[in-house]
Amino acid sequence: MIGDQTTTEETRRRIAANIASVRATIAEAARRVGRQPEKITLVAVSKTMPLALVQIAYNEGVTDFGENRVQDALPKIAALHPPGLRWHMIGHVQTNKGQRVAEAFDTVQSVDSLHLAEILNRYAGARTPEETPALARQIATLPGLTVQGLMTIAPLAHSPEEARPTFRGLRLLSEQLRQAVPEIAWQHLSMGMTDDYVIAIEEGATIVRVGRAIFGERVHR
Ligand SMILES: *Cc1c(COP(=O)(O)O)cnc(C)c1O
Repeated sequence: MIGDQTTTEETRRRIAANIASVRATIAEAARRVGRQPEKITLVAVSKTMPLALVQIAYNEGVTDFGENRVQDALPKIAALHPPGLRWHMIGHVQTNKGQRVAEAFDTVQSVDSLHLAEILNRYAGARTPEETPALARQIATLPGLTVQGLMTIAPLAHSPEEARPTFRGLRLLSEQLRQAVPEIAWQHLSMGMTDDYVIAIEEGATIVRVGRAIFGERVHR
């Protein structure tokens, strides 16, 4: 895909334009609902994409990248980890991969069990999110982890608008958890992907995870 000079320059221009367009869309959606665009983190989802494309996005000012498979992500993380760049794990983590995930990633958005949290805690300096109050309270007691908030994926839908109840539900859950588990700051709502990040911002997303709108369609997975 990235062969000769021309292709590389073309690819760079395409990705730069995509990033500019996603950023503009984020800003517009935020302003429409009276939010500050700079409070929203764009996570560029680089799963299945080669390192060269991640490098291009990084050169264009993207600081946060999302991956969903440990094996695919590790070589990219090893090759590119300048200060200020953050790698987010956004896919299910098998507990036998917990150590490698804790060591390589900066944030694990997909903590879905106390068992996984405990394994991450064993190998991490500080990290993570989760979901129900009981789980949140238990995870909050693990000294190596910081619970930052909640992440969700909306069900597949015909129109972005159909994702709104899911996003609103996560925001309401976060507000309930702020009362029920005040020892956690609950500052982050990671929600919204290529097809629905505008709706997610309208509903309070502080992190959007965007893949295809930046890197183009994925060939597989
Ligand atoms: C693939 C993926 C994304 C990005 O999806 P796009 O539709 O390419 O923007 C976001 N979040 C998770 C958890 C993913 O697996």
